[in-house]
Amino acid sequence: MPKFATSPGTRDILAPDSARWRHFQQVFADVVEPAGYAHIIPPMFEDLGVFLRVGETTEIVTKEMYDFEDKGGRRIALRPEQTASVCRAFVEHRPVTPWKVWYGGPNFRYEKPQQGRYRQFDQVGIEALGPDDPQLDAEVIALAMQFYAQLGLRQVRLSINSLGDSGDRDRYATALRAHFSAHLDALSAESRATLERNPLRVLDSKRSEDAAVIAAAPKMADHLSADAATHFAHVQAALRSASIQFVVDDRLVRGLDYYRRTTFEFVSTALSAAHTAIGGGGRYDGLVADLGGPETPGIGFALGLDRTLLACDAEGVFAAPASRVDVFVVDVTGGAEATSICSALRAAGVGADRAYEGKSMKSQMKAADRSGARIAIIIGDDERTTNTAIIRTMDDGSQQSAQRDNLVASVRQALGR
Ligand code: ATP
Ligand code: MG
Repeated sequence: MPKFATSPGTRDILAPDSARWRHFQQVFADVVEPAGYAHIIPPMFEDLGVFLRVGETTEIVTKEMYDFEDKGGRRIALRPEQTASVCRAFVEHRPVTPWKVWYGGPNFRYEKPQQGRYRQFDQVGIEALGPDDPQLDAEVIALAMQFYAQLGLRQVRLSINSLGDSGDRDRYATALRAHFSAHLDALSAESRATLERNPLRVLDSKRSEDAAVIAAAPKMADHLSADAATHFAHVQAALRSASIQFVVDDRLVRGLDYYRRTTFEFVSTALSAAHTAIGGGGRYDGLVADLGGPETPGIGFALGLDRTLLACDAEGVFAAPASRVDVFVVDVTGGAEATSICSALRAAGVGADRAYEGKSMKSQMKAADRSGARIAIIIGDDERTTNTAIIRTMDDGSQQSAQRDNLVASVRQALGR
């Protein structure tokens, strides 16, 4: 038994998956940076108040927060998400608008760990603050779709909804509360408890007992103000003209209370079970003001890296990048040759690795296999005396002899670069 293991809901990401994680962020940056989104790296912990705002009643904030008092007596939280941090940064730095940023990195939520649900999980996301232009809503959604396409994902379904402005949302919550209260007996115990806190979240219940009462519930669409309804119509028109397919799901509420107007979610139809949501987002037009800034509309999304990679596995796309070790040097003459050959190759920009401790030929060849190198350079006693080296192509086992003096050039040629 090892003395320590990772805490529940956390994992070590080992190679080759770790390279895939890094590549994921790079692909994301390559999609959003050309669209004008600059990288922001918010801290991983902040004042609890950034996340725990007045009226915020959802699980993320009430039950799942990693909060603690630090040695200076401050109430601190590990960030459960990054939108609130970005808005806090906006208030702190007052950049000119539109302010368009992207981020990537871990978040922390005290969840019940299971496949696709962890206590430390990664997200990439964008936020755009300033305009409340529906064209911007469509841009944000389109960038997420472009990113999924870039990964190679095909089975991503986009659902959108409008939660209206804050007044609409409150009136809708009242109507829902009345409806659910009139049918309390038909609701699950969990949904009755949710109703106390936030009637909108009852719509999110996946319990079969609740399905009928939810189906009969009043619809958000009937509670939208004229402004919110027009905004939503324009978002849909912009998505249609960009040929982005979507379904309007008027039961779509999201996990945070700060959402207003447009909300959306991306589901992988290649995944089964409870972790099909691979990303989501929406407008949060009141959040900046809540954090002490000027009234500033905002919209963004966060995509779950862990789950998106599960979706990639399910669709057989976005494989781990190839090994960056191009050459493995097998030296059975003591290791000094491997040292000088590796140095020369690395200095020339060719990835090179080797074995240590004077291992046998067999053991070094095994290591060469494991390294993922396309080529092995083999130095035996003969090669050392004749000042040559064997260049072996790993996948077909073909071998050729090369002069030590121009080994780097011969390797480059064998690698085709
Ligand atoms: P869920 O309903 O699945 O709990 P959520 O609404 O809490 O999701 P968001 O806060 O909107 O999720 O985060 C956006 C994305 O981040 C989710 O769609 C999901 O892919 C991912 N995500 C959220 N929580 C976790 C977690 N605990 N582990 C792994 N990924 C997560
Ligand atoms: Mg959640």
